[in-house]
Order: sequence, then structure tokens, then C-alpha cells
Amino acid sequence: MRPFRVETHSAAETHALAVALAGVVRTGDVILLSGDLGAGKTVFARGLAEGLGVDDQVVSPTFTIVREYRGRLPLVHVDVYRLESLRELEDLGFDEIVRDDVVAVIEWGDSVAALFPEWLEVRFELSTGGPEVDDVRVLELTVRGAYWIERSDALAGVADRVGASRARS
Ligand code: ADP
Ligand code: MG
Repeated sequence: MRPFRVETHSAAETHALAVALAGVVRTGDVILLSGDLGAGKTVFARGLAEGLGVDDQVVSPTFTIVREYRGRLPLVHVDVYRLESLRELEDLGFDEIVRDDVVAVIEWGDSVAALFPEWLEVRFELSTGGPEVDDVRVLELTVRGAYWIERSDALAGVADRVGASRARS
């Protein structure tokens, strides 16, 4: 699947996109979120949690590094922003955290992409106005691995369903 780009125009729209995306995820999935601070990674993770039926409030895991939530499928939310976080995760054992029986969503996940054979990456791009003055985000979805490629159409359908527009490449 070629990367495809989706434009959202508000945090609510990014949230809705992630809620819808939860409909196509399975246990064992790794979803990498990348993009600058304030780009919308945590907004997306919250939407994913809601879509997976998580009732608990999802908080940014920046200082706790890993949080696990119970939903229709269990969700592990990881943030590897700080280098110490990455080391701590390596000490804990990435395999113990990003397990086959959970859905894993990893903020700043591009830094750990090489550790996983298959993933969906959502790369957030801010438009030039910056986060305060402009609520437009371009989300670029890239997949690696056959397990995701077989869901390409479903992924593309998600964007169309929530009304976020396909961005021009
Ligand atoms: P990150 O986790 O990437 O650092 P957050 O998700 O915590 O970023 O914050 C994103 C901020 O940008 C929030 O304040 C959110 O309301 C705002 N925002 C504005 N427009 C959008 C959009 N289209 N998608 C996601 N967040 C948006
Ligand atoms: Mg965040």
C-alpha cells in the first residue's frame, strides 16, 4: 500500500478518525504515532481507546511511559519521547509491553519502528500556521507487513467514513 494522506480540520475530527480506525485493529497490532509536540498524537490515542471501548480516561503517558487500558481489546499506550523512556522500556523488555494479546499505540513511535516487523504509522504534520492558529493536520498513514496490507482498503475506507478529506500528495 502506498502511503495515503488524510486531512483533519479539528481535534474532534482526528479523534473521530481514530475511533473509526479502532474498528479495523486486532490484537498484536502496533500503531506508531509520529510528529511534533502538539501535533495530535495523544488526541489520536484517546480516540483509538474510545473506539476500543476503553472507559478509563486516557492520560498522556509521557512520564509514566506505559499505560494499559481494558477495552473490547486491551490497549497499551506508550510514549518514547524521552531517551530515558526508551532505555527503561528496553530494560523492562519491549516484548513484555508490546505483546501479541494487546493493541499497542506508541507516541514518537518512528524511533522504534525497526523493532517491529509490522506496523501502521500515522505521521502528523502541522500546517504552517502552527497548532494555536491552525487546526488543520495532515495525517500520513503508512503500513509495513502483510497483515496490514491486507487491511489497506479498510483503512482507506475509515477516512472516507468519518469525512476527513483525502489530502493531495
Ligand atoms: P501530541 O500528543 O502530538 O504532543 P496532543 O494530542 O497532546 O499532541 O495535542 C494536540 C493539540 O492540538 C490539542 O490541543 C488539540 O486540541 C489540538 N488540535 C487542533 N487541531 C487538531 C487536529 N486537527 N488534530 C488533532 N489535534 C488538534
Ligand atoms: Mg502526546
